[in-house]
Amino acid sequence: MKYVSSRGQAPELGFEDVLLTGLARDGGLYLPATMPQLSHDDIRSFRGMSYQDVAFRVMRPFVCGGSISEDDFAEIISKAYSTFRHKAVVPLAQLDHNEWILELFHGPTLAFKDVALQLLGHLFDHVLTKQGRKVTIVGATSGDTGSAAIECIRDRACAEIFMLHPKGRVSDVQRKQMTTVLSPNVYNLAVDGNFDDCQAMVKALFNDLPFRDEITLSAVNSINWARVMAQTVYYFTSAVALGAPDREISYSVPTGNFGDIYAGYVAQQMGLPIKQLIVATNRNDILTRALTTGDYTVGTVSPTISPSMDIQVSSNFERLLYNLYDGNGDDVRRLMDDLSQSGSFTMGPAALRKAQNIFDSQQVSEKETKATIKAVFNQSAMTIDPHTAVGVKAASMKNADQATPMVMLSTAHPAKFPESVEKLTGEHPQLPAHMADLFERPEKYDHLDHDLDALKSYIRKNL
Ligand SMILES: *Cc1c(COP(=O)(O)O)cnc(C)c1O
Repeated sequence: MKYVSSRGQAPELGFEDVLLTGLARDGGLYLPATMPQLSHDDIRSFRGMSYQDVAFRVMRPFVCGGSISEDDFAEIISKAYSTFRHKAVVPLAQLDHNEWILELFHGPTLAFKDVALQLLGHLFDHVLTKQGRKVTIVGATSGDTGSAAIECIRDRACAEIFMLHPKGRVSDVQRKQMTTVLSPNVYNLAVDGNFDDCQAMVKALFNDLPFRDEITLSAVNSINWARVMAQTVYYFTSAVALGAPDREISYSVPTGNFGDIYAGYVAQQMGLPIKQLIVATNRNDILTRALTTGDYTVGTVSPTISPSMDIQVSSNFERLLYNLYDGNGDDVRRLMDDLSQSGSFTMGPAALRKAQNIFDSQQVSEKETKATIKAVFNQSAMTIDPHTAVGVKAASMKNADQATPMVMLSTAHPAKFPESVEKLTGEHPQLPAHMADLFERPEKYDHLDHDLDALKSYIRKNL
């Protein structure tokens, strides 16, 4: 499989290089040059298979064919998902007669990002060990990615990880999950600023080509193609469990950086019959605005009780633009130049129509999110976290056909956001036993100004 940049000016790469590179050298994101196809018979054959076996069959065409053999890849998958505390890896729970919650939070950090990052860690290890190389991973997090990325890299000989988080803007549980990892290859940095500031610093590092080469910079954030790829798997497993491919399935996805929902679109492009893909946003609704009017204008980030979706720039949206503009890198580059120069771009009418044929979108207010947590608790005896609640509410508002199963992605365990959940349900959501002592563990992290040079010298000093 060859991969191309969304901006059309970086060299085509194979899977191993795309995995290690993250962002393309022309500033774009890598996508597969052609989308592998699964027939209805292929998809039907997934019935009754383990998550790991479906994962192997869905991802094999993206990964194998280069230096990663099929046997090695099967073993990588098996190791990656052995850290999940549920045998089904991502079980479905029933919310209402035809509504389902897909529990993506049974991994080591209790958030859906583990599904991709546990796999990524083992892929990195495999490829780098074989090449006898080491990399430096720098990432920015609004909460969950950080701990999931740290769990993916901690104690590995192949990498050091520097993780930036906005100071005071992640929950205590989220911060503790990152800063209580004392491994010598893990560096946590609390930055004066918001998540977009952190992300902009990381992007700037990637665009600084000499520095990027000096430290062999790499990323595990949601721009990495391998993460999108790993997330397509659970669309297949959940759809097949509910009757696909002989029936269509709909999805509602709490969305921030557009990685998770984009993975659903990839599954659809590969042949999975998906009826609706609902982009659910909190009041930071740049995506809902873009998909409604074509106007993608960056505003200011407004903090909510679903902090992992508190963003304005949605990095993976660029991959969708590449699809909407039929793979024309010049068009994508023009829009992204507009964005960096003026903080906005406008999609043409044809592109907007195409986007609206693929996605529904719905903004959910704080009040509605809270009411949903309460209602689900009272009506179905389930405790859901605020991110999941945004998806549940959006599904109820946008569901176009009650006869089609609606799957709502549950992206975090409620114990990651105990304050909001307890206030609304009256019950304190318990951390799983292996994390019960989280608040007693010592923390390790440094403060950093919102300043690129300070970041560069911190990294140089510690490598
Ligand atoms: C990251 C995250 C999201 C948003 O996912 P994207 O792929 O960035 O759209 C939603 N919920 C939780 C809990 C997350 O951690």
